Amino acid sequence: MYDYHTHSTYSDGDYLRSMFAAAEAAGLDGVGVADHCMVLSTEWARRTRREYGFNFDATYERRREAIDSLRDRFDLEIFDAAEVDYEPGHEEEIRSFLADADFDYAVGSVHALDGANVHAVDHFAALPESRRRELVARYFEKLVSLVESELFEIAAHPDLVERNSALRGYATREQYERVADAFADSRTVPEVNAGRVRRDYGRFHPTPEFFEVLGTRGVSFALGSDAHDADSVGPLADELRAFADENGLDPARPDR
Ligand SMILES: [Zn+2]
Ligand SMILES: [Zn+2]
Repeated sequence: MYDYHTHSTYSDGDYLRSMFAAAEAAGLDGVGVADHCMVLSTEWARRTRREYGFNFDATYERRREAIDSLRDRFDLEIFDAAEVDYEPGHEEEIRSFLADADFDYAVGSVHALDGANVHAVDHFAALPESRRRELVARYFEKLVSLVESELFEIAAHPDLVERNSALRGYATREQYERVADAFADSRTVPEVNAGRVRRDYGRFHPTPEFFEVLGTRGVSFALGSDAHDADSVGPLADELRAFADENGLDPARPDR
C-alpha cells in the first residue's frame, strides 16, 4: 500500500526521518512527501507564504538531497512530491514551476476560496447562507478547472469544503457529476484523503455520496493520509487500508 500524501518540516509536518520511520512501521510499501508548495502570484498565496513560512518552492532541492540521503535507511519506496496550490488562470506559472522541479508526481489542491483558506470557519460562518452556497459552487468550479488543467497526477481532498462546518452540506449532486465527468477525461485521479478521519470532521474525503458518483464514471483513486505528524501515519494507514478493502478499491499508482 502506498500513501501519496504526507507532510514534513519542509512545510508543516514532522521531520522526514520520523515520517519515514512511521511509514515503515505502518507496513507501507511506499510513501510520498507532498509538502505545501505555493508558486502562485496571488495576494492570498503571497500572504500564506509569508505568514506560514511555506517556502518549499525555494527549498525543494534541499529536501530532495535529504530524501536521497535518507532513502537507503528505510525499507520502503519514498517519493519526492509536492502539494501545489491551484488557482484558475495561473496554469502557466504552475506548469513552468513543475517542469523545472521535476517531482515524482504533483498533488494539486484548491485551498483558497473568497480570499481565505477553505478551513477558516469564522470567515465563512460570518457570511449569509446564500453566499456560502455560491462559494461552494465556486469551489467545485475551481476543482473542475484543476482537473481539466492536467497539471497534476492527484487532486487532493476533492470535497475540502465538507471539512468546514460553515460550508458543509451545500454540495449538490450536479456539482459531483460535473467533477466526476472532468476526472473521467483527465489523467488526474482524485484522492481518498484520511486527514480528518480521526479528527473533528470524522470522515474521509470524498463523502460516500461523492465517492459513489465518481465510481459511476469508472474513476480510480490514490490514497493519501495527509499526515502531518509521525504518530498519525500508522493509524491513518489502517483507516485507508480498511476503506480500500470495504470498497474493493484497487488504488491508482500515480508515481508511475
Ligand atoms: Zn491540502
Ligand atoms: Zn496536505
